[in-house]
Amino acid sequence: MQTLCILGSTGSIGRSTLDVVRLHPEKFNVVSLSAHSSVDLMFEQCIEFKPQKVVMVSKQHAEILADKLKRVNLSEIIVTSGILELELIAQDSATDTVMAAIVGASGLLSTLAAVKAGKKVLLANKEALVTSGAIFIEAVKQSGAQLLPIDSEHNAIFQCLPLNAQQQPGYCDLSHEGVSKVLLTGSGGPFRTWALNELETVTPAQACAHPNWDMGRKISVDSATMMNKGLEFIEAKWLFNLEPEDIQVVLHPQSTIHSMVQYKDGSVLAQMGNPDMRTPIAHALSFPQRIESGVEPFDFFNAKSFEFEAVDFIKYPNLKLAIDACKSGQGACTALNAANEIAVDAFLNEKIKFTDIAKINETSVKKFVSEKVTSIEEVVALDRSVRVFAQSLITEPEHK
Ligand code: NDP
Ligand code: MG
Repeated sequence: MQTLCILGSTGSIGRSTLDVVRLHPEKFNVVSLSAHSSVDLMFEQCIEFKPQKVVMVSKQHAEILADKLKRVNLSEIIVTSGILELELIAQDSATDTVMAAIVGASGLLSTLAAVKAGKKVLLANKEALVTSGAIFIEAVKQSGAQLLPIDSEHNAIFQCLPLNAQQQPGYCDLSHEGVSKVLLTGSGGPFRTWALNELETVTPAQACAHPNWDMGRKISVDSATMMNKGLEFIEAKWLFNLEPEDIQVVLHPQSTIHSMVQYKDGSVLAQMGNPDMRTPIAHALSFPQRIESGVEPFDFFNAKSFEFEAVDFIKYPNLKLAIDACKSGQGACTALNAANEIAVDAFLNEKIKFTDIAKINETSVKKFVSEKVTSIEEVVALDRSVRVFAQSLITEPEHK
């Protein structure tokens, strides 16, 4: 029986994780869950999975949840609040495996706590790795944590790598394993066929309607701007110990091939399947075994054609910014991620236009590009400063 902590259990990835867990009650035991404030859904998850502990980051919502649980005679479930409590459940000795599925850099410290405690860490929270890069991977190396990628592209790449590389995430020499290139596929999002001048008018609802994947709102906007692919580019660099030149983004609108690994002998290994996060989640939960995920098998006979295109960086300036940040160093990556979180939030709240996201990101990276970050305290401090700066670009746009 594998014991699980799910950080961000009320989100898209958290719910898909519980969908897989539900299919295998004899294999997985949920010991702790967390959310920010989705109290009704957390209440339902408590009734179904009966965890020992729950963290609601919001104190007010923790109190409401505790009260609701008491009324259904589930007061033995311990409910706490605050971000420090997330670190405690992530490193708790009662837990074998931690699903890191909080959105944004808010998930950094709890994900890192799981890593430092040497857990099996299922990494969905890409922003944690983008923000802290080498510090995160060094912590994996020191603790011997087993890091398994959940992001569908990175999970696909992982599946296409030899065993030796799978056993050393972040510090294997892939060239030594015969790899010549990693091909990171991306659908291009909902606006791939839109004209450049139409992008100014994009609404949050349009940006969140991804053609192939059903995801949380932040990552949906990131997919529409292709910042998501940019964050994934940086994530791939760290997870697979690659140089930026070894990673190539390929547009593949059908999202059937989830990514590919090209070998020196000309072989290209691809992982395919229907676009459904339950596949990488089931893969990582049961690795190295395979279990049912609930996902329909891919139907080759009714499949649309497989198309591939090069990326147009004029249309997707955020992707270019991220690749440049990856080449520049950690300060640029941490700054880009923080600015983007502020900009996306402002776009979702209709304070800025879709096309302003890239402008805020670019101005912020330019200002902080040469910051050195060598400790987690410096990462957190830079993240905070960039947020304040990016926010000022929104509230006082004459600074732009
Ligand atoms: P969602 O927005 O759907 O869910 C986010 C989860 O984090 C919720 O449980 C939410 O709680 C919680 N949360 C939000 N803010 C905070 C905070 N400040 N502190 C603590 N917890 C918080 O996101 P997704 O599930 O879509 O994405 C989660 C992560 O997985 C992201 O990093 C994303 O990039 C990555 N990912 C997602 C994929 C997908 O298909 N969705 C695919 C690949 C990667 P509450 O419900 O209370 O707000
Ligand atoms: Mg992805």
